[in-house]
Amino acid sequence: MKALFIVGLLVTLSACTTNYTRPYKELSDPTHEEIASIRHLPWNSYTVIYNSDTCELIGKACGFFRGHAYAHYMLNHAILPPKYYPALSEKQADCYVAKYGEQNEIKAAVDLFLDENRDPNLKIHGDPLIRAQNIIDCAKQAGNWESV
Ligand SMILES: [Zn+2]
Repeated sequence: MKALFIVGLLVTLSACTTNYTRPYKELSDPTHEEIASIRHLPWNSYTVIYNSDTCELIGKACGFFRGHAYAHYMLNHAILPPKYYPALSEKQADCYVAKYGEQNEIKAAVDLFLDENRDPNLKIHGDPLIRAQNIIDCAKQAGNWESV
């Protein structure tokens, strides 16, 4: 009963915040083949798995990719391996993080997408220049770009 109350409280709290400040579970896995992806675990729970080595390399941008994985869940997208998402779903997930994510992480991700000298082994799906522009547009529209 007490646990139920706490869950209710958490749901209420997260519904009230505009920033989603990571209400989701995360697991680091240095062997994970993607920067980050979301998985459906038993008992209806969803966990974002991210590559801790890659995240060390790309710094704050990692937060954006973790948010992107979580956005697929928030947007009711099917939970798929990252490369199978249609371009529109990818765009929507990027836009979601651009709207609700932390500005420094959004900026870091945009810088990474625009950096032609980034590590070519980074698993970035889609055209990075198009993604950067979409993220900037969405962040600006949501008033989540100003102070960076
Ligand atoms: Zn995606």
